[in-house]
Amino acid sequence: MGVTTLRPFTDWPIQNPALQALYEEVRDERTPHAILFVGPAAVTRAFAEFFAKSLLCTGTEAPCGTCPSCHQMEANNHPDFLQVLSDDGASVKAAQIEQVQARLKLRGHGQRPVVYLIEGMDKLTAVAANRLLKTLEEPVSSTIALLTAENDGRVLPTILSRAFLYRLTSGDSVWDDPLPDSLLHSDSEQNLSFAGVLKPVIQWTQHLFRDGDFTLRFAADLMKQTESYNIEDVLHVLIVWLRDLLHYRLEEHESLVCREFIQDMRVQSESVSEGQLLEVISIVMETKRRVGSHVAARLNVEQMCIRIREVFRIV
Ligand SMILES: [Zn+2]
Repeated sequence: MGVTTLRPFTDWPIQNPALQALYEEVRDERTPHAILFVGPAAVTRAFAEFFAKSLLCTGTEAPCGTCPSCHQMEANNHPDFLQVLSDDGASVKAAQIEQVQARLKLRGHGQRPVVYLIEGMDKLTAVAANRLLKTLEEPVSSTIALLTAENDGRVLPTILSRAFLYRLTSGDSVWDDPLPDSLLHSDSEQNLSFAGVLKPVIQWTQHLFRDGDFTLRFAADLMKQTESYNIEDVLHVLIVWLRDLLHYRLEEHESLVCREFIQDMRVQSESVSEGQLLEVISIVMETKRRVGSHVAARLNVEQMCIRIREVFRIV
């Protein structure tokens, strides 16, 4: 990855011990050539895109969100990221895999990696699977295959044996970032400052997910409603809440943090998909990292709102 280093693992939008091991492989420049992500389609797609963005980023901390590569990923036109998506649950055809192979051959053997994503390994036709095996058997050193499946029990053993499998919903997800000290005090008011931020955050996402007429007013609202708090703490609580919505949708109830707001969770999780949540979590985490001074904070939060809005426009 050259001078690019990875953002800390605690920034990854999904965390569990297996993904931590994958993180360490990437960090140590031992990224597997073929990776199979198993989980709900929306989750595996969003995570694979985040992972590809991390591999291709040319900024200082991957994914930085600001380098030309990250911009190309966000615009869906990165020349070194090839995708064969399985929309509407249709199975990927052999011809689509051949197209990827043809494009892989055109790439030089440069130092920059080429990443390709092929969805629906559990729905591949035998012909398509055989085409793919050819590529998996002769990996080019700088090529990384990201494969996805909802049910690994239906993936051909020949493909399973050539890819490292990572489950994206294991029920044991660990978000290894405790609340900041400024939100947690050792006295009896322990939860007051957390709750003080959480309530406006829940209201804010309620508007965000349900109000189609989304405007920059939301950035101002979030800043105003939480103005007595550090904006980084506010964004941290927002991430905790968004992760709870994701856990709720994935029925990982044992991982919920804000259990007393389970009714709000139920209502809000209906209007947002797992993939959208992952994307939004990733955007908010990135914003939290670069939010900086108070003057910059407002601009960064506005930028965050614009990007979140795009997440909901695409789908
Ligand atoms: Zn970047």
